[in-house]
Amino acid sequence: MTDMPIFSQLEIPETLAAGPGPGNTDPRVLARFAQAGLADHMQADVLRGMIECKHMLRQVWGTQNTYTYGVGGTGFSGLDCMLGAILPGDTVVAFTNGTFSGIDGLTIRMKAATRDELRANALDPQAASVTIVTVPHGQSVTGEVVEKALAGKKPKWAFMAHWETGSGRVNDLKGFSEACERHGAMGLVDAVSSLGIADFSIDDYPGVVGWASCPQKGVLCLPLTYAPVSFTDRYIAEVRANGCASYVHNPVLEARHWGIIDGKDVAAGSYHRTHSGYAVAAFHEALRITLQAGLAQRARDYALHEAALRQAVEAMGCTVTSNMTSLVVLNLPPALAGREKELVQGCRAKGFGIWPTLSEPVQIRIGILNQLSPRAIGDIVQRFAAAMNAMGGDVDVGAVQQVLDRHYRAAVAA
Ligand SMILES: *Cc1c(COP(=O)(O)O)cnc(C)c1O
Repeated sequence: MTDMPIFSQLEIPETLAAGPGPGNTDPRVLARFAQAGLADHMQADVLRGMIECKHMLRQVWGTQNTYTYGVGGTGFSGLDCMLGAILPGDTVVAFTNGTFSGIDGLTIRMKAATRDELRANALDPQAASVTIVTVPHGQSVTGEVVEKALAGKKPKWAFMAHWETGSGRVNDLKGFSEACERHGAMGLVDAVSSLGIADFSIDDYPGVVGWASCPQKGVLCLPLTYAPVSFTDRYIAEVRANGCASYVHNPVLEARHWGIIDGKDVAAGSYHRTHSGYAVAAFHEALRITLQAGLAQRARDYALHEAALRQAVEAMGCTVTSNMTSLVVLNLPPALAGREKELVQGCRAKGFGIWPTLSEPVQIRIGILNQLSPRAIGDIVQRFAAAMNAMGGDVDVGAVQQVLDRHYRAAVAA
């Protein structure tokens, strides 16, 4: 056996997370995580915490759905649970307009594929029962596109992302829900990027039967916690009738630890898998912070600060192609076009964590999760302007600051 040296302690520096996600976690959340006192997942306060989280989640989602809880893991864990109701051969129409809905489309093809289809192309199966409707990067999925596809295909399931973070586009949730109702499809929605940022209530969208979100974006609870999900009774009846090829991500079984059994709330949860009391304490605090701020106020704050950032980068000569309120997706001015990745790498090396797009075309994404103050936005703008100038841009930093000041003064006056 060779002697391997002991690595030194892992130090991860403090950075400004100014990307599409994750956002910097609130110190209150980290404190709850570190101060949770024990590892027993069946201890009374841990179980009580999970049940309180369930009630808070119903408020955050705006729903009466009993089957509302968290799936341990990241956003894709919640999505895997939600998409688990899709069985081989099921007909699905999925609308994709960027990186994440594209991955969701792949998950759907993997779940709907027959054994032969899976074997023919194991990592990228082409399931004949699935129709992927591709909307170009930078454009939204509209109600008309959904209506046309569902009217033609009459699928059992329909899928769309609410906010596609890859291209920064808001898709038409109302149009999607109404088309699902009209054509008898069960709607499934990736709300990973919108929950906790947009002010919406899922019960207003009766065509949608399943919803999945994540811990690290609007809910701001990265320290690996829970992906919020919510399912209507119709969705749960479907899983009860036809099953789901998973124990751990089974939408019915996974609910038990959160005190949801046979469609009813029960006083205490029962074992499903070993949940972490540390994660429960952190998640509980993150939900408390969200509800204390208030969903409507949060949504207004994001809109105000996204508009400030948008105007500032436009004053720098950039073109914004997104319409979400948690980030801007932009093209550099012509003189710097093609150097997006270089600029992003330079910023990241200096602890300023912005992102490129993860699929074509290459654009820059700057996010404002948990950066909701004129000072925080000013810092982001200064750093971005400095990075552009370091690459030979000619940004007048003083003029850009004036754009920001004017925006915030007008907001105060209004
Ligand atoms: C971030 C994101 C995901 C993936 O979430 P993870 O937490 O990275 O698993 C999925 N869908 C959308 C729309 C996202 O923005």
